[in-house]
Amino acid sequence: MLETIRKESGGTRGASLPDPEKTRKSFTWDAAAALLDGLPGGALNIAYEAVDRHVGAGHGPQVAIRWLGKGDAREEITYGDLAERTSRFANVLMAHGLARGDSVFALMGRVPDLYVAALGTLKAGMIFTPLFSAFGPEPIRTRMEIGKATVLVTTETLYRRKIAAWRDQIPSLRLVLIVGAMAPEGCVALDPAMAAAEPTFDIALTTPEDPALIHFTSGTTGKPKGAVHVHKAVLYHAISGRYALELTPGTIYWCTADPGWVTGTSYGIISPLVNRVTMIVDEADFDIDRWYATIDREKVEVWYSAPTAIRMMMRAGDAATEFYDFSSLRFLASVGEPLNPEAVVWSNRIFGMPFHDNWWQTETGGIMIANLAAQDVRPGSMGKPMPGITAGIVEQTETGMTEMGDGQIGELALRPGWPSMMRTYLNEQARYDKCFVDGWYLSGDLAMRDGDGYYWFVGRADDLIKSSGHLVGPFEVESALIEHEAVAEAGVIGVPDETAGEVIKAYVTLNPGFTPGEDLERAIRGHARKKLGPAVAPREIVFRNTLPKTRSGKIMRRLLKARELGLPEGDISTLETDET
Ligand code: ATP
Ligand code: MG
Repeated sequence: MLETIRKESGGTRGASLPDPEKTRKSFTWDAAAALLDGLPGGALNIAYEAVDRHVGAGHGPQVAIRWLGKGDAREEITYGDLAERTSRFANVLMAHGLARGDSVFALMGRVPDLYVAALGTLKAGMIFTPLFSAFGPEPIRTRMEIGKATVLVTTETLYRRKIAAWRDQIPSLRLVLIVGAMAPEGCVALDPAMAAAEPTFDIALTTPEDPALIHFTSGTTGKPKGAVHVHKAVLYHAISGRYALELTPGTIYWCTADPGWVTGTSYGIISPLVNRVTMIVDEADFDIDRWYATIDREKVEVWYSAPTAIRMMMRAGDAATEFYDFSSLRFLASVGEPLNPEAVVWSNRIFGMPFHDNWWQTETGGIMIANLAAQDVRPGSMGKPMPGITAGIVEQTETGMTEMGDGQIGELALRPGWPSMMRTYLNEQARYDKCFVDGWYLSGDLAMRDGDGYYWFVGRADDLIKSSGHLVGPFEVESALIEHEAVAEAGVIGVPDETAGEVIKAYVTLNPGFTPGEDLERAIRGHARKKLGPAVAPREIVFRNTLPKTRSGKIMRRLLKARELGLPEGDISTLETDET
């Protein structure tokens, strides 16, 4: 295990939660609710909490979104502007005869209209679903069918390329709004409609249990599921943003995730705005120089990203950081995949603070297990359960679910009841019901808790390898492999074997300057054997230029395995990079 990164008392430059253990003990949801204002009659609306109440409190002139376009374009949207634009958007929806509970889908890049559409939809009491703009026609269509889309907001190019051919086959779809001044036949141009709409809107008095968002899972393990979230989730977005991401009013915050994935909405729209930060939205995709320059120029204080990007930064080497000033940073966090210990140590050296790993799922709606600012970081650990969250490591036995002791591997489970928990999987009630056993929500991930209460990710239940009587999590093997100087990324699977049950096989990509070959394979295998022991080290290592990943950046081990065994590939609608 790599050395613990110790925090002085109070954490990195004054944590908002100086004594997490104490807060864990004293935490109540009623007290947390003080972070929100609420609406008359017990109503609760995410958009009100995120935007309009700040304007009411005199913060209209504060910048809510600083948008960086793909070229040099920039736009600053204040909380006042955002309140007005989202009200106009809500009025546009109402003017077309739509009503509360209708389902609004958005398909576009990270442009201001996306954020306006999200919050305007919520203001109108309708349900919002963001789709990743790089999806092909088929994934878009199936998701719109599952979510019974009544409205689609998109761009002309995306509409012509991906929607027009089958639009008439979605019977629920009544309105297509096109960003900009012009629209193809049968669609409505958004700009003139917004200009003609009233700038104020009476926010829908949604109940805390009214549905607000549908998020589709990443499809890492199979067909994506549509998780339904309600307005009450905003309570968890408020508190978890403050505790796990150090979001306080005025913070300059950059979440690199696209709203097409749950992180980009929960922590890329709602949580930051509810906590009244100024958020950076970058339309462009990952580019190392652009990212470093953005932190420097925009004076980013809190940065929330993902392991796949962090590994790319590591791969680019220290030299890439040379000309940039990172002194504005005060907190870094990562989510989406296990964060290799190597990456934690690397970031601590480069940025003067580690990336704080946290764990959650589309289903949980918010961060469940986290490394908090004031807590020592054990590289490779996801941290500890958030205040208000009870986690456990469980195993199904004949008498029901049993909690495992410290140091034992089992399924990571949570006690239901936090506000941002999904309320169902759309059209898949039976699958939803199966997630709950004996008062636990079962995550489908395997983990271990150490004697000090830190949680360690082992692998997805589906990815676990059983080799010669050992249970092996791919993450452990992958982390050991990327410690070798030549290895940039690794994906590890189990391949059936007559004697061992399964043997471990690794697919790796290399850092610049290294060439695949037998000598290198032997060297990497030797390194892995030294780190892991012969039983757990990979038997075979294959070099690849890329690994198959979801568009949200997760390595798709099930695809490596299907291809290895010549099995059907299953649902690959979220597949990004591909090379067989
Ligand atoms: P699907 O459920 O469709 O297969 P998915 O599980 O990848 O896709 P998401 O909800 O986007 O969809 O991802 C949640 C999963 O990502 C978690 O269950 C876990 O496996 C993984 N994950 C997220 N954060 C972490 C983390 N910090 N460490 C390890 N794994 C993580
Ligand atoms: Mg999942």
